[in-house]
Amino acid sequence: MQINPEILPRIIQAIADTIEKNAEEVTQLDQAIGDGDHVVNLQRGIHALQAQSAEIAQLDWAAAMQKIGMTLMSTVGGASGSLYGTLFVTISKALRGQSVDLPVFASAFAQGVESVKLRGKADAGEKTMLDVLIPAAQRLQTAAAASQALNDLLAGITNAAEAGVEATRNMLATKGRASFLGERSLGHIDAGAKTAQLMIAATAGVLASSAAPA
Ligand code: ADP
Ligand code: MG
Repeated sequence: MQINPEILPRIIQAIADTIEKNAEEVTQLDQAIGDGDHVVNLQRGIHALQAQSAEIAQLDWAAAMQKIGMTLMSTVGGASGSLYGTLFVTISKALRGQSVDLPVFASAFAQGVESVKLRGKADAGEKTMLDVLIPAAQRLQTAAAASQALNDLLAGITNAAEAGVEATRNMLATKGRASFLGERSLGHIDAGAKTAQLMIAATAGVLASSAAPA
């Protein structure tokens, strides 16, 4: 199955919509154990991507991912800005010169998530966006390797992301601002994990509807 970058404006729009719709809830999460700016940070990046989306749609996958990464890096700020920037720039490098199909994209995404781990010096279980990104990347690779039907694959990733975000509730934060709270971080979902899950669900929704028979 081949999907081309012309789908990116719809994905960017769906992400903008879901972050807007959940802005209040996520801000409350970030206020509980962070500094409350995560949604505003992310929206700065998403608005910049919306302004570039017609241009992005005309690029090849590697160039589109590079542009997205550079834009996020220069607009989002906070811890999440450099982490998402790194994610997309690494995906871009992994896609360069490749014919992009699902297994290739799955591998590129997994490499991107590895680069986020390195950049943030963090791993699974530390109550961050990685608790969503890591299981989503694993599920994507397994499903792509098994040539799972697209809709099953998308449902699997969406579920893995949801389980990941819920799991952050009982984790002790050991990275980022929430780590300053120690045990007081327990009982709260991580805001960055929540937005990662919302963005994955929105992306899966667009891909599912684009693949649906007319
Ligand atoms: P800041 O914490 O600098 O204000 P944001 O509020 O935009 O930045 O983003 C906070 C989110 O970034 C956290 O909820 C967490 O998911 C993620 N995060 C913070 N530090 C790390 C890290 N070292 N590795 C991975 N993710 C991190
Ligand atoms: Mg913050």
